[in-house]
Amino acid sequence: MPALPAHVLLHIATTTGIDHRTANRNIRNSTCPRCRRTTLRALDDDICAADVRADPIPLTPLGETLAHQQHIPTYLVHLTGQKLQLENRHTPTLPRPPGTDVIPEHRCNNTWPYRVTHTESQLPKPATHTTPTDPPF
Ligand SMILES: [Zn+2]
Repeated sequence: MPALPAHVLLHIATTTGIDHRTANRNIRNSTCPRCRRTTLRALDDDICAADVRADPIPLTPLGETLAHQQHIPTYLVHLTGQKLQLENRHTPTLPRPPGTDVIPEHRCNNTWPYRVTHTESQLPKPATHTTPTDPPF
């Protein structure tokens, strides 16, 4: 795909706040400029993406339902290669793929009841064992 002209990239950056140099699908830590809470930020799709700021709080299915009742979008967090990425949950009733989390869009000063959040992420854990290099193995 040909690169967009510089004046178009500048227009996108000034009207949407999306900087083409840093915006991509990979999740990065970010601080909300209004409430100063730690959030996760990434584009939510490859095409027609939104620059999403989400709370790093994995929701249970009940929590996701409550979020959608409050018109708060939710996002699937999944591993792509070695990178965590966001994907918009347009249909929250679909089952969640194993090894994924669902997190809500960030809303300043919003708190989630304890019972609707997972105490532990459902994402795969990094390997903790080591393979012996000396015989016998
Ligand atoms: Zn905020």
